[in-house]
Amino acid sequence: MSAQHVLRIEELRAGVDSREILRGINLEVRSGEVHAIMGPNGSGKSTLSHVLMGKPGYHVSGGSVSLDSADLLSLPSWKRAHEGLFLVSQYPIEVPGVSLDEALRAAFETNGRSAQGLHDEILSEASRVKFPLSLLGRSLNVDFSGGEKKRNEMIQLAVLKPKFAILDEIDSGLDIDALRDVSRRVEQATNEDGLGVLAITHYSRLLKELRPDRVHVLVKGEIVASGGPELAQQLEKTGYAEYGGEDEVGSGVAVSGIFGL
Ligand code: ADP
Ligand code: MG
Repeated sequence: MSAQHVLRIEELRAGVDSREILRGINLEVRSGEVHAIMGPNGSGKSTLSHVLMGKPGYHVSGGSVSLDSADLLSLPSWKRAHEGLFLVSQYPIEVPGVSLDEALRAAFETNGRSAQGLHDEILSEASRVKFPLSLLGRSLNVDFSGGEKKRNEMIQLAVLKPKFAILDEIDSGLDIDALRDVSRRVEQATNEDGLGVLAITHYSRLLKELRPDRVHVLVKGEIVASGGPELAQQLEKTGYAEYGGEDEVGSGVAVSGIFGL
């Protein structure tokens, strides 16, 4: 059994300029758990992932985020990564001139970890997530397809072994095969390495592939309901209207699909 870690978000308030977008978020994710955050468009899902990772441009006006005893909000992004937080971004950045091998080697050096055996591990993880080995020598993410980018992120996740991963709309732009492969690798990491996951999505088809332990409903910057996987099932029928969210067509489409409807 791997070590137990806790990612704790308490009364987190944040926004852009004077506008408050997150209005007091409370969330606790432990090693090995998968938490899903679902909500209609504009509810603050992406803002949450950006604020957790420390993306510039957001103003935190209250609350705290900690990973074990580390106060993440006081740290720059790279130190948050160093503490064990990993963001699978919706749009992984292209890094011309730097291969995956080099990027991971640099990350290991920053963390003071030995890079011995790294190349073999990358090869074996690439095979595991069906990432074309022929692309491994290329610049990171440059001219990769959507599916290749996410598979590539899975190699990074598997090799770096963070304590917690935030998946920001990991399902966007993925066909069902890629979504299944990526979800399966994340699930294996929760079982094998005790990875804790915060899966942010408005497409419940993700939750068919990556089964959550807990589901949270985010509406207008607040978590208005939390429950087990059955909550996604209920949303399927009722939409977000009963939580005060707009039951727009977009959210209806978003929650349909979990049971093949
Ligand atoms: P979601 O990901 O749930 O669709 P977002 O977090 O992207 O929601 O956005 C929540 C609200 O905050 C929206 O009204 C959006 O327009 C606003 N918002 C988010 N980021 C910014 C930003 N950088 N500048 C201005 N407004 C923003
Ligand atoms: Mg978003």
